[in-house]
Amino acid sequence: MELDSKIYIAGHRGLVGSAIKRKLEEKGYWNLVYRTSQELDLTRREEVDEFFQKEKPDYVFLAAARVGGIIANNEFPADFIRDNLMIQTNVIDASHQFGVKKLLFLGSTCVYPKYAPQPMREESLLTGLLEPTNEPYAIAKIAGIKMCEAYNKQYGTDFISVMPTNLYGPYDNYDLHSSHVLPALIRKFHEAKVKGDEAVVVWGTGEPRREFLYSEDLADALLFLMNNYKSSELINIGTGKDMPISMLAEKVKETVGYNGKIVFDTKKPDGTPRKLVDVSRLRSMGWKAPTSLSEGLALAYNWFLENEADATLMANKRRGI
Ligand code: GDP
Repeated sequence: MELDSKIYIAGHRGLVGSAIKRKLEEKGYWNLVYRTSQELDLTRREEVDEFFQKEKPDYVFLAAARVGGIIANNEFPADFIRDNLMIQTNVIDASHQFGVKKLLFLGSTCVYPKYAPQPMREESLLTGLLEPTNEPYAIAKIAGIKMCEAYNKQYGTDFISVMPTNLYGPYDNYDLHSSHVLPALIRKFHEAKVKGDEAVVVWGTGEPRREFLYSEDLADALLFLMNNYKSSELINIGTGKDMPISMLAEKVKETVGYNGKIVFDTKKPDGTPRKLVDVSRLRSMGWKAPTSLSEGLALAYNWFLENEADATLMANKRRGI
C-alpha cells in the first residue's frame, strides 16, 4: 500500500475496524474511505455496487461482520449465517468487479474443528466437525475463505484470509448478553466492585482455555500482512499463549481491583475446550504480538472506564433498548 492509496475499511466502527483505522492513520495513510451501516447496508448488493463504483478503492479490509459470544451465536444462528454470507459475498465480489488490488478477509479461529490438534495449524481447516454453538457463523467464515481462494484461482485476484484468535480492546462489545468473555468479565468485575457485590458469576466450569490478542496488535499484524503476504493459504494471528477462563477471571479481578469471590455457573455452556492457534507461519515472517495480556487488560479497562457511558449505550443499542 502507498500512503495515498485509497483504502476502504468495511466495519470501521467495530473492535477490529476501528483499530485498523487508527493504525492506518498513525502510519500516515490518509486516503481512507468508510461508511456507517446506516449509510451503506453491506447486505444489499445494489448499495455495495454503487459504493464501489463511486469510490473505486485500491485496498479493502473486510472487517464488517455480525459477531457475538457463545450465547448470541446460539440464540441467533440464522442472523449469523445470513448476514455474514451476504456481507462477505457482496464485498468480495464487488472488489473483483471493481478492480480492487488487494482485499484482506477477516475470518476467525472458530473455523477450525472443535477437536483440532492444539495449537491449531492452518492445515486443520475442514478436517473435522465444528463446535456446534457457533457452527453457522463458522460455516459463513469458511465460505469467505474459500471464496477468496476461488477468486484468486479463477480471476487472478490478490485476496488474503486471516484468522485472528479471540480479540479485545477499544470499542469492544460490553453487552453482557452478547459479548465475548473478556469484555464481559471487565464489566462484571467493575460493576461488582462499584456495587460492593460479594461474588461475580463466571459462566461454565472455568476450565476451557482461550487465547487473547489485543486489537491494536491485530491491526499491526493486518497492515503487515496487507503489505507482505500474498497467498491463498489462510494465516493465523495470535499470541501463541492461552489460559483457562478461571485464570483469566483472576487476572481481570486483579486488574479491576475487586476483592470479592468468583463463582462458576456450570449451567452455562463451556463451548470448545481449547482454542489456541499455531502462529509459526506469521512468526516465520517476523511478526510477534507486542502487548502482554496484563498490559492489554490494563489498557482495555482504562478504555472502559473512560467510555463506560458509550459502552453501555452501544450495548443497549445492540439489544434494541
Ligand atoms: P467462544 O470463545 O466462542 O466460546 O466465546 P466466548 O468468549 O463467549 O466464551 C468463552 C468461554 O468463556 C466460554 O467457556 C464461556 O462459557 C466462558 N465465559 C465465562 N463467563 C463468561 C461471560 O460472562 N460471558 C461470555 N461470553 N463467556 C463467558
